Amino acid sequence: MKQNDFCGNHTEEKLPDTPSRNKGYFFSVVSLDTAIGKLCSIAHETGTESVPLEEADGRVLAEPIYASSDIPGFDRSWKDGYAVIAADTPRASEAAPVLLTCAGTVEMGSDENDFVAPGQCRYIPTGGVLPKGADAVVMIEYTERLSDTILVRRPAVLGENIIRRDEDFHAGDSIFEAGWVLRPQDIGVLAAIGKTFVAVMSRPRIGIISTGRELVGVDATPRPGQVRDVNASLIAAMLIRKGAIPIQYGIVSDDLKHLINLLSTACRECDAVLVSGGSSKDEKDITATAIEACGTVHIHGISLAPGKPTIIGSVADTPVVGLPGHPASACLVLLLVVSPLLQVMEKRPAGASVTIKARMAENVPAEKGKETYIRVRVKNGKVTPLFGKSGLLNTLKESDGILKVPAGVEGLEAGELVEVIQW
Ligand code: AMP
Ligand code: MG
Repeated sequence: MKQNDFCGNHTEEKLPDTPSRNKGYFFSVVSLDTAIGKLCSIAHETGTESVPLEEADGRVLAEPIYASSDIPGFDRSWKDGYAVIAADTPRASEAAPVLLTCAGTVEMGSDENDFVAPGQCRYIPTGGVLPKGADAVVMIEYTERLSDTILVRRPAVLGENIIRRDEDFHAGDSIFEAGWVLRPQDIGVLAAIGKTFVAVMSRPRIGIISTGRELVGVDATPRPGQVRDVNASLIAAMLIRKGAIPIQYGIVSDDLKHLINLLSTACRECDAVLVSGGSSKDEKDITATAIEACGTVHIHGISLAPGKPTIIGSVADTPVVGLPGHPASACLVLLLVVSPLLQVMEKRPAGASVTIKARMAENVPAEKGKETYIRVRVKNGKVTPLFGKSGLLNTLKESDGILKVPAGVEGLEAGELVEVIQW
């Protein structure tokens, strides 16, 4: 399987002139494609590490894998039955079975002294080494045992019910290309070829900073006006799901100096940093200013609803994304913008987002000129929009995913086949 670069198809669009110096109230928005393209262009790959086989599920292979030897490495039986010489059995039938002498039993895990001479057979369990001289296995169902005589009621075909010594993999065969995402069954294959450790891409380490003077820790009891920090946990969970390692830097109370310090530290220690809240253009919104103080703001505003107040910046060579504070908006930007960044960093093949095709249960009007994403529930093949304020968590919780309402359409019609991106 070949991987496609997730960011490869994003169109080049001229970025607005120095968005950070545009201190006005309005955004100079860019398209989602442009934002993803820019973010991926400043991403760096994470490097590689060697992990024990049992920890390799879901990881991206950093090396091609070849068969070190033939697998299984010996001709073995595919069925329980009798190892025979096919030429001894051509006229065997129900009415006139061929009689062979049973020379013994093949022991599992050993090939000692096993051979079959003309007129003989040996009992062989599934996976046993085919005895020398034998060239087929007759399934036990087509035989009958009378003491040491075996009645064979069917002709055996040459090679029948045998797994050849290199039938699974031939020594030197290419088994996996670098970039392959390992699944449990692949780990089984690696075990079969004797790999105890495997080289994989390191998981991206992503710093998380929450901003907002109204935020308190999850374990605190908020006073009126305060809310618990939802985003830090939500973002961490999403990052883990996408294969990254979240690193929490805590809450900044809209204090510019504090944010600049924390951001610089996080950018030194992580592969990328996500700052939630304060990403808009209100004078209290300090994320862009903080990024600008230690690095560069490349994009401030994406033509996306919700999610417009998103910032793409960098500090030294570390990408920084300013996420909108509303958890539902943050969640959407994580899925649409941050996921591709993680993919590029870990050289993870495209197509990781899981989509469901289903029909609209009702009409959804489009917002003029804007690519809009609505939260939807998918049940019994029907897609129901969950309209609600982006500040509310309940519609987020009820939703199974998001649905794009493209810019330039009048809306989506009841009965229309659509593709929902699953959370
Ligand atoms: P902001 O993007 O800072 O303007 O915040 C927009 C809204 O999101 C405000 O109602 C914030 O209280 C809320 N918000 C911001 N950050 C968080 C967070 N970490 N957890 C929960 N709500 C947040
Ligand atoms: Mg805020």
